[in-house]
This record gives sequence, C-alpha cells and structure tokens, in this order.
Amino acid sequence: MTAVHSTCPYCGVGCGVIAGGEAVRGDPAHPSNRGRLCSKGAALSRTLDDSFRLTEPLLGGVPAGWDSALDHIAGRFADTIARHGPDSVAFYVSGQFLTEDYYVANKLMKGFIGSANIDSNSRLCMASTVAGHVRAFGEDVVPGTYDDWEQADLVVLVGSNTAWCHPVLHQRLQAARAARGTKVVVLDPRRTATAEAADLHLPLAPDSDVAAFNGLLVHLAGSGALDDAWIGRHATGLADALAAARADAPCLDAVAARCGVDPEALETFYAWFAATEHSVTAFSQGVNQSTGGTDKVNAIINVHLATGRIGRPGMGPFSLTGQPNAMGGREVGALANQLAAHLRFDHAEDRAVLRDFWQAPNLATTPGLKAIELFEAVADGRVKAIWIAATNPVASMPRAGRVRQALADCPFVVVSDCWPTDTTALADVVLPAAGWGEKDGTVTSSERRISRQRPFRAAPGLARPDWWAFAQVARRLGWADHFAWDGPAAIFREHAALSARANDGCRLFDIGALAGLDDAAYDALRSVRWPLPAGAAGEGGRLFALGGFPTADGRARLVPVRAPEPRPDGAFVLNTGRVRDQWHSMTRTGRVPELAAHTPEPLLSIHPGDAARLGLADGALARVETPEGAVVLRVGTTHAQRRGEVFAPMHWSGTFASHGTVARATGAGCDPLSGQPGLKSTPARVAPL
Ligand code: SF4
Repeated sequence: MTAVHSTCPYCGVGCGVIAGGEAVRGDPAHPSNRGRLCSKGAALSRTLDDSFRLTEPLLGGVPAGWDSALDHIAGRFADTIARHGPDSVAFYVSGQFLTEDYYVANKLMKGFIGSANIDSNSRLCMASTVAGHVRAFGEDVVPGTYDDWEQADLVVLVGSNTAWCHPVLHQRLQAARAARGTKVVVLDPRRTATAEAADLHLPLAPDSDVAAFNGLLVHLAGSGALDDAWIGRHATGLADALAAARADAPCLDAVAARCGVDPEALETFYAWFAATEHSVTAFSQGVNQSTGGTDKVNAIINVHLATGRIGRPGMGPFSLTGQPNAMGGREVGALANQLAAHLRFDHAEDRAVLRDFWQAPNLATTPGLKAIELFEAVADGRVKAIWIAATNPVASMPRAGRVRQALADCPFVVVSDCWPTDTTALADVVLPAAGWGEKDGTVTSSERRISRQRPFRAAPGLARPDWWAFAQVARRLGWADHFAWDGPAAIFREHAALSARANDGCRLFDIGALAGLDDAAYDALRSVRWPLPAGAAGEGGRLFALGGFPTADGRARLVPVRAPEPRPDGAFVLNTGRVRDQWHSMTRTGRVPELAAHTPEPLLSIHPGDAARLGLADGALARVETPEGAVVLRVGTTHAQRRGEVFAPMHWSGTFASHGTVARATGAGCDPLSGQPGLKSTPARVAPL
C-alpha cells in the first residue's frame, strides 16, 4: 500500500504521520514533530479494527439506508423548526471534526436554519482562551509557535501536564533543555510527570492562578522589568491591571499564602521570569476549565504584554489546545458565540459580509446556546431536536446524569459516530461516520498550523464523512445549491475564500494565500501556519512582530483581573483530567491492550494522609459525592496529590467502567465570559464505600 502523509487524530500538537503500511510512523518532514510520536500516536494502527464500528444508519435501532435516515432527519428538523422556530433545534459537534465538517455544519445552522445553536465540545477545552485572546488582542489569534519553546530560556507551564497530554511538544522541550539549559517551571496542583521533570514546581491551590500571576505583575513592576517603551507603543491598560494586581498581591507572603506554596519557591519563579527575556508561558486545561478561566488567561497574557514579550522568537503566551482540531473549529465559527471567519454577531457589517457571501436566507443574528446551556435547553424542552456528532456528551459533559436524562426525554436525537457509545444508545437515528484514516480534510494545531488528514483505507460498511451527512440534510431542507460540494477541497476553498473576504483590507494578516487552491494543490498541501502576517513569505512570518493588534487602535489590552476568594477549608475538591495513553471516552483507544496497560483502571488519586484520615486503604473503593452526582472509584494513594484534593481520570465511560463515568459528578458552574465549565475543582465528599 502506498504510504500516505496524514496527521495524528488525537491532541492539539498535530503530529504528522506516515500511514498505509503495517504501522503508523512519525513523519520526519512534518514541522510539528519531525518524526516523533508519543505512545498513542505510535499505536494508531492498532485502533483500526473495524469489529466494533457502526457500519449502517439505524432508524429507531433498526438498520436503514442512508436515504431513509437522511429523509427522516430532514423531515423531523423541518417539522420542529416550522412548529417551534429555529432555536428549537441544535447541533453539538466536536474538535474531532475536520475543518470541512465544521464548516458545513456551521453554515447549515447559522446561515440557513437561522439559529446559532451549534456548539462544540471545544467549549470544554479552550473557550476561555478564545475569550481571553479577544479581550487582550481584539481577536482570537494565537501569537506563538512551537519553535518558541525551543528558543526560550524559560518555559512556564500552567495547568498543563504536557508530558502526558501534549507529549511530543514535551519531548521537543526536553531536547531543547538538554541543548541550551532551558529552565522549566510548572504551576499545577498535582506533582505530575511534567512537574517531576521541571526545575521548579509550584503546587498551586485550586484557582489561585490569577493571584500567582498578579503577584508576578507586581514583582515585575517593582523590579524594573516592565518594558515601558513597548507598552507605550503597543498596549494599553497597564495602570488598571497593576492596580488590580496590587489589591491581590500586597506582598509576596500574601500571594504565597493564597496560592498555598512556599514563598521562597514563588520568589524564585518571579526572579527567573523577571530576568529572562525569552520566556514562554504555556497553559492548558488547568487554566481553561475553570469558572474564572478567562481571567486566568488574561492574567498570564498581562505579564507578557507588560514585558513586551510577545511576537518575537522564544517568547509569548501560548495556549495548548486539547483536541486535534479545536483551532480549525475556531476559524470557521463552530462555537455558538462566533460567526465564521472571526466575524462578529454584534457588528452589522460583519453579518452583512457573511449573509452576502453565503447568500444566506436566514442568517442568525445573535449568539446561540453554549454547551452547558444547550443541554439545559434540551432538559427543559426548549431544544426539541438535536444532532450530536463525533462526541459522547453522556460520558463527557459535566452533570452527565442530567445530560443522559435530557437526551432520553428529548423528542428527537440524531447521533453520528464511528462507534456505539453511551450517547448513540439514546439516539432516534444513528449515523455511521467515517473515521481517521478514512476521512479527507484539514485540521489546525495549537500553533495554528493547518495539516491534511488523508484517507488510506476504506470506511467500513456504509460509513460516510460527517460533512457529507450534514450537506445531504441541507439539500433535503431545500438548499441544494448552497451545499453542493463534490468533496472536501471545494469546501476548503469556500472556507478560505470567506476568510479572505472577511479580512478584505486587513493590513495585519495575509489570509488569501489558501483561497485559490485547486483540487490537486489541496491534495498536495503541505502543512502551513495560517494566517500569515501581511507581507510574510512561507514559514518566516510571525504575528505581532511589530505590535499591531487587531483592535480599533492597534494596541493590545492588559485586562485588570482579580483572584477569586479561596474556598472554605474542609470540603474536598475533585479535579479531573487525562491519563497518558487514553483519549476522551476511550472509543478509539480503550480496546488496545498496550494502551490500556499504562493505566488499567480509573483510580482516585488521594494524598496518603487524607486516605488514612478517611480510613481508605490503597485499593479500597471510595464513593465521591458532589452536588451533581456520585461515582465509585478505587483508591490510589500518592504524594503527588495535595491534601484536600482528589483527582480522577475523565476517560472511563459506561462502556468501559462498571461504576460509570466521573463526569456524573463534575460541576457545571461556568466561566461567565467563555461558558467553559469548571471541571477542575468541584466540591466533593469522599468516603469509604
Ligand atoms: Fe498524536 Fe499528540 Fe501524540 Fe503527537 S503528541 S502523536 S498529535 S497524541
């Protein structure tokens, strides 16, 4: 079989792979990984067993042809819209979507059905970063690159177990450390594998990140490390941000007490940051998945703007996206509060651009329901028909038990997936989706690098790509001329042309470079960072190298942020996250023995002192109860865990764990700006079973 160059379907690093033979191997020519793969990527060929796949559409649980299933979906959606209006229907999609899938579903809902009720599971992943970027930069634009990690002298990792969750980038960082002595600081409540490998670990109390970075801003101001000249040219808001920071950080000891860390260690971090111009601060779900996630993002960006450390090699704030294509979804507007191509709901001229480009008869004019709100609307009957694609919310949404009940009671549920899941079990119509290795399209990595996913095997049975299913329903709803693409290349061309139109006259970004790809050029497309800065050629350009942010005055904004009040002592805090070798609700990885071997079952990590106090021995069963629900887990004691906090992996769904998913117990409190749920710190009671 011919070797095919494609992209790993797991995390936001976006590693290039070569597939088509016995094994999947790393692509030495791909700039993201240069041949490296992590354990999940290296085991990709072992996930291609079709035995468990969905292979034909099911209507009421009975096999049906595509035509019957699609006719039924179109009929039920049309009837629901006619009787209850466009906001009575919704799509819930996924960062596993290729950009072309995202584009089609978003166009159908926002341009033609006339509602903005399409949200993505990326809401659970990086919505707070989007909101923070918009506040600071005027637009959701990622300023940094992976190369910066290798050119930095200090890398600060906040709420990120990079060694397990973005392993190849962690490998690149370790190689850079060996070559140039890069210092690494980790701010994380847990002593993770990443913290173990760092020069300095600050085990922050939950949700004290803003206090830590406000303290850093005050320290930078006091030690003469602010770049007043750069701020004067390129940023505003320093005085207000500093006033807010000083209120949180009257002295180093107060910050250390709020963060629950050793003052000397905190001072060391501050001193290193102040003295190191080439500093990267990378952050992930420990920052984003918080009821104050947007403020955390801005607290981090503030210290980079205050020091002018952005837009130059080896420096900048850097958001690590969890999923392979969270960034692609952001480009085409797959979040309920975005329009495509970064166009804005609250700007009439932006809506006019999109309405004109799509010839959209029913363009949505206001944001739709974000993920948590969306499932609440299903629960209370406002949403009466929902199409869920490439995600398993019954196992992954907070308050999963409530989500399950909401879908069970919903009049009409469509689920597209590759495998049967807890969610497909509740569907009126199940659609078999083509999966990785079978689909054709593009994904965008954390450094906004577009790479191709290319097919190298036939989809099993009648499985088809998601974009095709959404387009087929659109055609049946009466919009055939607007959903008439013959393949992903045509969809990508339209997406790129829209982006170019939306940025017409923009002096900052060169958007149009990809708008004219013909089929052959799309097929041959090598990975490319996009957008490029205006005037830049190829890989050479860097966003914000000369300042010039996409705000009205061209300046970035420091945002005044305050740390939340500490939680009262006494209650445990339940934290959740990934393990090294599993992915999401394990549909792809859970049946691969060598991946299961690393973490055979979901353990509740707890400090030995807490376990002893509660009478919990290693290996005993514990009941974790929160206001949302309860879950039973086997105890694993570890000094990596702070006292008063427990950690449980997020992956085990009803399919793989007899005691059910931890998502049943996670809280649904959300960041007020981003709508991202605070999955990292749900108050909990822990007791022996
Ligand atoms: Fe895949 Fe991420 Fe591993 Fe790279 S680091 S091989 S993208 S899971």
